Amino acid sequence: MKYYDKLIFEISRPGRVGYSLPKSALSNQQSAISIPENLLRETPAELPEVSELDVVRHYTNVSNKNFGVETGFYPLGSCTMKYNPKINEEMASHAAFKGLHPLQSADSVQGALAIYYHTARALSELTGLADFTLTPYAGAHGELTGLMVMRQYHLMRGEAQRTRVIVPDSAHGTNPASAAVCGLEIVEVKSTADGTVDTNDLKGLLDDTIAGIMMTNPNTLGIYETQVVEIARLVHEAGGLLYYDGANLNPMLGASRPGDMGFDIMHINLHKTFSTPHGGGGPGSGPVGVAAHLVDSLPNPRVVKGENGEFKIQDAVSACGRVATFMGNFGVVMRAYTYILSLGKDIKHVGPIATLNANYVKESLRDAYYLPIDTVCKHEFVFDGLADKSTGVTTLDIAKRLLDYGYHAPTIYFPLLFHQSIMIEPTETESKETLDDFIDIMHRVAEEAIADPGMVKSAPHTTPVRRLDETTAAKNPLLKYRDLA
Ligand SMILES: *Cc1c(COP(=O)(O)O)cnc(C)c1O
Repeated sequence: MKYYDKLIFEISRPGRVGYSLPKSALSNQQSAISIPENLLRETPAELPEVSELDVVRHYTNVSNKNFGVETGFYPLGSCTMKYNPKINEEMASHAAFKGLHPLQSADSVQGALAIYYHTARALSELTGLADFTLTPYAGAHGELTGLMVMRQYHLMRGEAQRTRVIVPDSAHGTNPASAAVCGLEIVEVKSTADGTVDTNDLKGLLDDTIAGIMMTNPNTLGIYETQVVEIARLVHEAGGLLYYDGANLNPMLGASRPGDMGFDIMHINLHKTFSTPHGGGGPGSGPVGVAAHLVDSLPNPRVVKGENGEFKIQDAVSACGRVATFMGNFGVVMRAYTYILSLGKDIKHVGPIATLNANYVKESLRDAYYLPIDTVCKHEFVFDGLADKSTGVTTLDIAKRLLDYGYHAPTIYFPLLFHQSIMIEPTETESKETLDDFIDIMHRVAEEAIADPGMVKSAPHTTPVRRLDETTAAKNPLLKYRDLA
């Protein structure tokens, strides 16, 4: 094993130097170095003593231990880990935009405001909603914003008693969490055996305390909610609004629009559907769109187009508030806008290809993995563990074994409807060769589970670290190399 493969972090050697500061022109003048005594260090700073090559190799090798969509297939269901084209980065780092300051006056940033404005127009066109705010920083932040709009709508109509939000039992955890953060009460609606919202159960929940329903369509099982128009009618009749969790918008692009299904409010995850990076928890962007009757409640600030074609940043008194500093993550909006323009009309192929890829993988693996709901899926689908339930090999074991083969694991143990959920979303950017290889490896793991379950249960065998305490690793990570055992 090479020295730098061994996860050795202490590479400092006394006296080794990688960089030297240029001699200051001021160093001979006494006044330049009059640092007050009480601010001077007592001991020299403890800095690593390394050569430039040591540093370059260290970081290059650490980065190679990372896994990303540019390393390999990343079928993480619900997350839409599609490839993020390089042209997005090129545009976002263009000199004309890179140096913008959020406190610049509107007349000095007309180009940026035009991009902001036209991105909102494009999202309206793709979703059938009247207008968008691009300020929320993530999908969950968009949910909160959308619920604030919903709440504002009921308050303005004198219906303050509408404080309960219906959420399907298949919903992403952020849905009830956002409702709770917004001060609303959560009411769960059941799913039928085919995985869609149970309209009979829904009917029993609707009264004048309901603010609305949050739905994902296709839902988190990748199944299209065929009753959506009827659900919209029922909820509207009861005085509620419909919120669309747009995390699953990818298979709908250019095929059907939430606004046409009857939704009043939605968010979009630009870092999913619109090919902007997921970047380790941020920065993301969760634009919120609304139907015409809710536009005045969108959060401030708004970008509007004046009579002479100039763009203005405005605040409305009827807004539900303010949810972000300045205009949100503009660099992310730039990338999404580039994606939309570079695909043009071809954006209509995104959904069908994502859907085809998911169904291809599903049908190819259904002999070895248990398919609890046997139907045509949209962009993703869920297995409930192995078909052979006698091996003792769990979904976690399968996910860990996939790492040995160089694959990122699918989403596991979500949705909660099944005990051993494995949720696979290939996205449209993967080739048939990649999908075939993944199918092959998934079959191999299923065979290993039967032939040598102990080996699968102790996977991964080839990664730098083995099985971690995942909760502690996420909540309490050791970020100082000297704490490593
Ligand atoms: C990803 C996701 C969210 C939350 O989006 P973030 O951008 O991660 O906050 C909400 N709902 C569903 C269905 C998702 O997949």
